[in-house]
Amino acid sequence: MENATTRKMSVREIRQDFPALRQQVYGKNLIYFDNGATSQKPQMVLDAINQYYSMDNANIHRGVHHLSQKATSEYEEARETIRRFINAEKKDEIIFTKGTTDGINLVASSFGELLSAGDEIIISAMEHHSNIVPWQMLAERKKLVLKVIPINKRGELLLEDYQNMLSSKTKLVAITHISNSLGTINPVEQIIESAHAVGAKVLIDGAQSVQHTKVDVQAMNCDFFVFSGHKVFGPTGIGVLYGKEALLDEMPPYQGGGDMISKVTFERTTYNELPFKFEAGTPHIAGGICLGTALNYLNQFDSKELEEYERDLTEYAQEMLETFENITLIGTAKNKTSVVSFHIPGIHPFDIGTLLDKQGIAVRTGHHCTQPLMDFYQIPGTIRASFAFYNTREEIDAFIAAVEKSISMLG
Ligand SMILES: *Cc1c(COP(=O)(O)O)cnc(C)c1O
Repeated sequence: MENATTRKMSVREIRQDFPALRQQVYGKNLIYFDNGATSQKPQMVLDAINQYYSMDNANIHRGVHHLSQKATSEYEEARETIRRFINAEKKDEIIFTKGTTDGINLVASSFGELLSAGDEIIISAMEHHSNIVPWQMLAERKKLVLKVIPINKRGELLLEDYQNMLSSKTKLVAITHISNSLGTINPVEQIIESAHAVGAKVLIDGAQSVQHTKVDVQAMNCDFFVFSGHKVFGPTGIGVLYGKEALLDEMPPYQGGGDMISKVTFERTTYNELPFKFEAGTPHIAGGICLGTALNYLNQFDSKELEEYERDLTEYAQEMLETFENITLIGTAKNKTSVVSFHIPGIHPFDIGTLLDKQGIAVRTGHHCTQPLMDFYQIPGTIRASFAFYNTREEIDAFIAAVEKSISMLG
């Protein structure tokens, strides 16, 4: 959203917006490199949470009173902010969920009802558990076939294998936009086009993409797109499922309860229209509103500028790590961002992570909810540093020095 009011990217100023970054851990300035797990929150979001619970708290959609109407309009305004952020065509294509996992389970459960024995679903070798397990459960329940696109050692999808898997039996392709363990950016447009050519629908797991790259669901032409609020500088417990209207209309409701109904009698219940058909019960109202605030925070900037800054950080960190003889980088795709993952033969990732923590550096160690991917590399896990636009080259320098120190302590 480049316009006259676009805020120039200044990492020093941006860091002032995030109070969590100003703290010390074990007497050291916190270096927060666990953005792949969750992001820190800007003051704007913290203020919005406080404002909602202090002054605006009311249940939505049914109240005649002032506060209820205010909360309802803020919640629905947030839905519109989300629509614009991912460029969905219509506001009723934006379904509030608890997060990425919830969104995928919604689709598996509801879209899954439309599938029948022998139908095929394709996922990939680099999926997060939340984009594997719901499909396995569905496959078992409906006797479907689950196929997995393999990857090469760099952590890139083998697209020829994918092409060969596609057939008229393929009903859904569910694939991550950006890998949380490897940083690989998948060629989703191409994947979607090929799937559509055989009549399959495509779900894109955007848990790692909305915060790192501009997403346009219409240009991408995905059928479903899911993401989590907490990874895009918003609250936990809130997320988004985008789905094409015609498809969502065809799908049965996921859960039954209040808000999702049009009329209830003991004989028969009719369902509410979109998006409410998929939003049973009192939602995470503050979460929805403050996710809108988080996206408005991002809207101040030119997304390209943030993206380039993060790519530069990633390349810099990767180049520095490549100078270590005993480090094996995991995930060296040509097209990647925001994640450096590595393994040191003979040293358990957890031991390095613990020593880095003592130096004030927060990284993630382990399988990152991608156990099949770790099996592919035949390692127990990796040490993963994942960046946001509030991180700096100076932090990476400190991190590299700390890795060196940790290795020498363990070696
Ligand atoms: C974090 C993540 C998920 C799960 O998100 P939740 O917020 O835990 O529901 C799914 N896929 C990817 C790629 C992720 O990074």
